[in-house]
Amino acid sequence: MSLKPADPAFLDALSARLPADTLRTPETRYLEEPRGRYKGQAAAVALPRNVDEVAEIIRAAHAAHIGVIPYGGGTGLVGGQVMPDGPAPILMSTERMRQIRASYPAENVIIAEAGAVLADVQAAATEVGRLFPLSLAAEGTARIGGNLATNAGGVNVLRYGNARDLCLGLEAVLPTGEIWHGLSRLRKDNTGYDLRNLLIGAEGTLGIITAAALKLSPIPASPGTAIFTIRDPAAAIELLSLARDAVGEGVSAFELIHRQGLEFLAETLPDLRQPFETHPEWCVLIELGLGKGQDAEEALADLFGAAMEAGLSDDGVIAQSEAQRLSLWSLREHIPEANRRIGSISSHDISVPISRIPEFIPAGWAAIADLEPSLRINCFGHLGDGNLHYNVFPGAGETRADFEHLRGEVKRIIHDLVFEFGGSVSAEHGIGRLKVSDLDRYGDPTKLAAMRAIKNALDPHGIMNPGAVVPGL
Ligand code: FAD
Repeated sequence: MSLKPADPAFLDALSARLPADTLRTPETRYLEEPRGRYKGQAAAVALPRNVDEVAEIIRAAHAAHIGVIPYGGGTGLVGGQVMPDGPAPILMSTERMRQIRASYPAENVIIAEAGAVLADVQAAATEVGRLFPLSLAAEGTARIGGNLATNAGGVNVLRYGNARDLCLGLEAVLPTGEIWHGLSRLRKDNTGYDLRNLLIGAEGTLGIITAAALKLSPIPASPGTAIFTIRDPAAAIELLSLARDAVGEGVSAFELIHRQGLEFLAETLPDLRQPFETHPEWCVLIELGLGKGQDAEEALADLFGAAMEAGLSDDGVIAQSEAQRLSLWSLREHIPEANRRIGSISSHDISVPISRIPEFIPAGWAAIADLEPSLRINCFGHLGDGNLHYNVFPGAGETRADFEHLRGEVKRIIHDLVFEFGGSVSAEHGIGRLKVSDLDRYGDPTKLAAMRAIKNALDPHGIMNPGAVVPGL
């Protein structure tokens, strides 16, 4: 498969078949990504307004063997949305396709175009008295097509599942330019291969998602948020069990935060209100969403009492107002920004079986200290999903550049350990370009062969997001 650059002759011919201003010279913002690890390049950015224009562009690219990189909000953390080298591709931004096409509150379904910003989908659900529970710190920028393409997770997976669990149907353009009209609102549809679930998590390598039918939920009548100090990660797992025994599926989020994260927040974002006078070694942020006739604040107070009695926690803050809830969440949501300001040497979005987390965390600390004792680790994340962000930083007073030479080794040490613990080297961010070699190293060979066969069958010229996700193509 050899791709060609999108040259001026191709772009002129394509432009003539599209409404004015559909193809543009890409501005810098399309060629950057949040961590600054990759600088992209592209001959043009395409800004289609509807699925027919997307299909027209993909058909032309397929015929001419030209790469196409789908682009949502550009918040992906594994370089899937930027192509640093190779024949100049077209970037396909969904930003003009952002309509909420319909909502069906009685069915708990909303239909959104791929370019709808996640926060706008949440707001549209609220308007019809429902909850769209996918929630992550980049929700003001990330778009629903990108969320589905990466099978995004976030803070509510514990209760509501990840993006894949929240999708009933898709409309998409396949790599040959054919439109798949799969916007089903059905919850039961056992009719052959599951193309929807193949496209979700494919990171744009099997086609471009143009719209989605999404599942909604009732809005919890009584929400409650608290932050408790916690003795250690084993105690956090015990606390999660206590919480579930008390309120069942009412636990919507359960986030582990380490002292290092609070210190980074205090150093880089000093205006953020910290809940404790001195930074505890560990704490957990808990969100409950209970039904009518239940009281989340009371349930959190009971949980705190039980945690004290069991020796799991010795301090806590239960939000007494919406402003306090938002302030506690703001702390959690700003951890990635604080990390960005400090500058990690290597970031790891990993999962291990939940009961092995208390063993995994110190094993990682020890392995990194053996390599270089001054390095710092900020370990935080979605404990209830077994998903940790285990990010390694330079020591105080040192910079990322001082340790650039150790990046590969740091990553290999952590990922080898994850593999040893029966975990995954990409829990929620995907493979993109950053983790193709990891997938090759740790992936099951039979699965990898099946992935290559599927990619070759659906995208025989390899135009969709070339170089991303699939090793050895
Ligand atoms: P982009 O970055 O534009 O693209 C991501 C990938 O999807 C690329 O491979 C791209 O080619 C492909 N793509 C985009 N749109 C389409 C489409 N319509 N059809 C097919 N392919 C497409 N992720 C989590 O899972 N959980 C978190 O908690 C989380 N927190 C984050 C916090 C911060 C501060 C930041 C910056 C990122 C975070 N992320 C998180 C990562 C990121 O927000 C998600 O991966 C998000 O789903 C990407 O959406 P996007 O629209 O920005 O996609």
